[in-house]
Amino acid sequence: MLRRTIALGFVTLLAMGPAARLAAPQAGPVLFEGALVVAGDLSAPIVNSAFLVEDGTIRRVGRRGEVQAPAGAGRVDLAGKVVMPALINAHGHPGFQRGLTFSRDNYTRDTYLDDLYRAAYFGVRVVLSQGIDAGDLAFEIRRDRQRAGASAARLLTAGRGIGAPNAGPGAAAFQGIAYEVTTPETGRAAVRELAARNVDVVKIWVDDRGGRAVRLAPPVYRAIIDESHRRGLKVNAHVFYHDDAVDLVEAGIDGLAHLVRDREMDGPLVASIVRRGVYVMPNLSGSERGTHAGLPPWFEEPGLGALLRDTVSAPVVARMRAAFTSREPAAAAAARERYAVLQRSLRRLSAAGARIILGSDTGLEDHVFGHAEQRELEAMVDAGMTPAQVVAAATSRTAEYLGLRDMGAIVPGRRADFLVLGANPLDDIRHTRRIEAVYFDGRRLDRSAIRARVHPGE
Ligand SMILES: [Zn+2]
Repeated sequence: MLRRTIALGFVTLLAMGPAARLAAPQAGPVLFEGALVVAGDLSAPIVNSAFLVEDGTIRRVGRRGEVQAPAGAGRVDLAGKVVMPALINAHGHPGFQRGLTFSRDNYTRDTYLDDLYRAAYFGVRVVLSQGIDAGDLAFEIRRDRQRAGASAARLLTAGRGIGAPNAGPGAAAFQGIAYEVTTPETGRAAVRELAARNVDVVKIWVDDRGGRAVRLAPPVYRAIIDESHRRGLKVNAHVFYHDDAVDLVEAGIDGLAHLVRDREMDGPLVASIVRRGVYVMPNLSGSERGTHAGLPPWFEEPGLGALLRDTVSAPVVARMRAAFTSREPAAAAAARERYAVLQRSLRRLSAAGARIILGSDTGLEDHVFGHAEQRELEAMVDAGMTPAQVVAAATSRTAEYLGLRDMGAIVPGRRADFLVLGANPLDDIRHTRRIEAVYFDGRRLDRSAIRARVHPGE
């Protein structure tokens, strides 16, 4: 097993190409010693570890004293700390919120990068933007960030997603961006355009938006899935209704961007998700916000609150607070009932061994990059997953879904993208917020510079 992992590492290195090698790694090899390593792949944690990083890549991992370092290697003492892989989020929407405003006018390089820097500040290494990237901006940022290495989260994009007319993305700011298709042939044509732009996945919406629109029809999404698979692209579906999820799984969908929201996922659906290896993003944290009429415990948690205040302005924090304190108890109670259904579906999926990954719909209004990913982890544990399962879901499993074979775990051959924590997330998942340092490509991020960039004061 170890031998195979190392071999895979060398193959990955050879396959990475010139763009990845231009990332500026720490000069010379560095040995990180003494941390408890949570590798992110459900293997047993390594107590009093040592791992060697060179050229931005993890070369060796083992117990302290057992890992050889070349003469002259740097050393970093991490005694008493915990190391886990940086997070990977398969469902975000960067670039739309600026201060209190949420609109298409905000969709600029600056706003977009701010969101990717926010994500990095909270320990998120990769964000997949799911389907509302018009024009060239996201593609340019994806190319530039890849080249520069740099300290913002790496971007992957679905470009423009595909839906039926008026049945695409929900927010007003997103209108007019998605492809609107009604026939198999126009669906295939959209996929061909997306493939020509080298999107990372294809996003579709299958929803009637509360009855206001006609759903993307099964023959149309089957054509989209077929055309995407012919071109080596995965398809990722926004779903709402259980019946749609059943048919999408049957049709070969690769990922579900949400749990179904009209009822609990039943045994046959869960079984077919497991059998077909469909990846599921629970996307709980947005819905969880609605369950509170009063301040949620996480909002009052000092550590998480401080991270939030570091990255968004005081008026945004105040508006988030007001959304809780002004909510009618009856509305919160109804939301809690709906939320409990989502939690039960996730518990069933997890118990059945489904491939669960991190997807938090980050970037919707006041659903702050990095902050929402951190809350999503806690929500997954609250629904019944173990902290170890959630760490693996949010790192190695999401990397697997996105085809990031050199990311997502603390094992030889992977990129040295990791968090240094002050406490063990396997004891309490909220410890993923106790961030003392973030490393991308073996380089320690300057988090104070990120804070200054995304939050230059009131
Ligand atoms: Zn979304």
